[in-house]
Amino acid sequence: MRYKIMTITVVALLCVAVILGFMIFIVSTNQGGIAGNNTPVPTSEATPDGGIETSVPTEPPTEEPTPTPEPPLAGMIIGIDPGHQKKMNGGKEPCAPWGPEANSKANNTVMKTKTSSGTQGKFTNQPEYIVTLDISLKLKAKLEALGATVVMTRETHDVDLSNIDRANICNEAGCDVTLRIHCNGADKESVNGVEAWIRGVGDGTKEYKELGEYEKQLAEELLRYYVNSTGAVNRGVKTSDDYTGLNWSTVPSIIIECGFMSNEEEDNKLASAEYQQQIADGIANWLLNTKVLKQAEQE
Ligand SMILES: [Zn+2]
Repeated sequence: MRYKIMTITVVALLCVAVILGFMIFIVSTNQGGIAGNNTPVPTSEATPDGGIETSVPTEPPTEEPTPTPEPPLAGMIIGIDPGHQKKMNGGKEPCAPWGPEANSKANNTVMKTKTSSGTQGKFTNQPEYIVTLDISLKLKAKLEALGATVVMTRETHDVDLSNIDRANICNEAGCDVTLRIHCNGADKESVNGVEAWIRGVGDGTKEYKELGEYEKQLAEELLRYYVNSTGAVNRGVKTSDDYTGLNWSTVPSIIIECGFMSNEEEDNKLASAEYQQQIADGIANWLLNTKVLKQAEQE
């Protein structure tokens, strides 16, 4: 009986050993097989002429890196002159660079105040120089985000810049257009809306006249986008020989009188960040869509 039990045990152990051995054999064979199947082997095919054509696995085609698109206003140089400053400069400077022989109200013997104090909100009491800089800084941020180069005549209130200085900054930078940001005032409180001012007859030369005609087209186009964004009344484009800043500009230059600080509704709007942003957006929309403004690189 005891021998029988031992025999059965030995047979059972032998069976287990055989099964284990078989399993180890199977597993090791499979691993070898898998490794072998994974090795890339060039496939060979008989070509019609009897030769052997070997196709070598090729690298996937590398895609050309897509170039970053140019920002929409890249290449434009925009001058922004926030009107006035904290302290006016009562000194005088010649209103225009040309002499009295030109058939113009302005010439180099007509002296005008270097920087006037500007107007003031009749209801908000905000001085014009604060509102013009607030609008200008929003416009600068917007235009720079769109890729334009922005030339500011001032970014603080504490400056001493005459109107000739302001024109020269933008002339020397070769601005495609200079925007002179101002606010209006009138005796009659009901008067409201936006208007643009451009140069007048000037020195009477053909070049000066052509520059004025170009500014007129620019300003008319600008006002359309301005009123579309702000809902302001469009008072149109006006010409004058009285503005020193325009007369000394050798680049296209537009005064934008953004609204009347003597009108209660417009005074409140002009002092609000939301409306200031609408002004900046309207001007930016104009530059994005202008058909008149020649871009610097096309000239
Ligand atoms: Zn002004």
